Amino acid sequence: MASESSTPDALPAGEVVTRFAPSPTGFLHIGGARTALFNWLYARHHGGRTLLRIEDTDRKRSTQEAIDAIIEGLDWMGLDYDAPPLFQSDRAERHAEVAWQLLKAGHAYKCFATPEELEAMREEQRAQKKPLRYDGRWRDRDPAEAPEGAPFVIRLRTPEDGEVTIHDRVQGAVTVKNDELDDYIILRADGTPTYMLAVVVDDHDMGVTHVIRGDDHLNNAFRQLPIIRAMNAIEGNWPDPVYAHIPLIHGSDGAKLSKRHGALGVEAYRDEFGILPEALFNYLLRLGWGHGDREEITRAEAVELFDLAGVGKSPSRFDMKKLENLNGHYLREADDARLAALVAARIGEHADEALLARAMPVLKVRAKNLNEVVEGAGFLFAKRPLVMTEKAAALLEGDARAILRKIYEALRGENDWTSEALEATTKALAEEQGLGLGKLAQPMRAALTGTTTSPGIFDVLVLLGRDEALARLDAQAA
Ligand code: GLU
Repeated sequence: MASESSTPDALPAGEVVTRFAPSPTGFLHIGGARTALFNWLYARHHGGRTLLRIEDTDRKRSTQEAIDAIIEGLDWMGLDYDAPPLFQSDRAERHAEVAWQLLKAGHAYKCFATPEELEAMREEQRAQKKPLRYDGRWRDRDPAEAPEGAPFVIRLRTPEDGEVTIHDRVQGAVTVKNDELDDYIILRADGTPTYMLAVVVDDHDMGVTHVIRGDDHLNNAFRQLPIIRAMNAIEGNWPDPVYAHIPLIHGSDGAKLSKRHGALGVEAYRDEFGILPEALFNYLLRLGWGHGDREEITRAEAVELFDLAGVGKSPSRFDMKKLENLNGHYLREADDARLAALVAARIGEHADEALLARAMPVLKVRAKNLNEVVEGAGFLFAKRPLVMTEKAAALLEGDARAILRKIYEALRGENDWTSEALEATTKALAEEQGLGLGKLAQPMRAALTGTTTSPGIFDVLVLLGRDEALARLDAQAA
């Protein structure tokens, strides 16, 4: 009884519906964000719909904080959904209803085995070095044989022989023998549905056509399909979904991604690492999906180009350097007023957003993240007397302070406070003194910024404004 399934064209042509189904037991980590992104892109590319389902059936491990962080993280990345999120825990009754339908139609059965009995069964399997599996002891037994009022679970009657092949859009054809699957529980003794049942019922009721998720769920697909098939036999209109199980993300050393590698919530990339959402979007897109060797792909291009055919089969490696390089690119592309607001929020009260916006073109050019922009902007808001870095202090040794005095005098006479005019005046002074421009620029940089790295020195003069710039030069001049 071989059974093919999920052929790429198994579904009738029609609307594409994808879903992202996170379990809110932790924040939206990088792997989850990428799964969400692929689902979103696939639906947007095909003009379909994409939905969000919060799989909060594990009440003990699910938290409101995690739900909020997931929703906020998705929103930050610009992933929008075509309906309000569906909460799996609200649907327990509907899940149970399907379990009873399966029971009534003979696709499931009551199992009265006690926990002690099952433990003894497993003990024996262990002793015989057999796989630990429910042995089907109630599969063909008459429920009337159970003691009056005894608690029971409902188990799925899975096919006993044959095999199932899933034509996964990423993994290719994957076959599992039916005798490897046991009759697992779909409804617990307390009447609550199991995860495996809930996923299938929700996907059906949401009209999901494409299940795109981490390949750690590939085994589950073989357990979920028998429910789908059984319900299809009962009701019709329960087609196999198209499956695409995407490889997990590994760390740069090839090991499974852990906290150490950056398996953090997306908010850590936003808050701690100063990454822009469009950079993370682009990076996660390229992590596991490719279009030639293009690195920079905008959101609009991604929607146009994305397809599952471009998703690789092997795990991708997370590389913070690549993410930062992309982030640098998007910083340079980003609107200066928007960046100024982000940077001002990081600096706090004493930030001047308008000044930051004016400074942004020169501040962002070499930055790879917002923290570096904040660092670079420090001189704008420094208070006199400026605190000097050790290297900056070294630039003020020798005759530097005397030179600064001459610079101060020359610039004080400058009426046209533009970078061009200031440069011309400074150059003229350098020539007059028989010095290279660097000999003047270095102490100027130290006096104006307290550091040895800054935007171009004439830009610095302009950004500080005449009064503040002259005061800083004067303060360090001999
Ligand atoms: N809730 C599952 C998870 O967070 C995903 C289930 C699914 O996509 O089918 O790993």
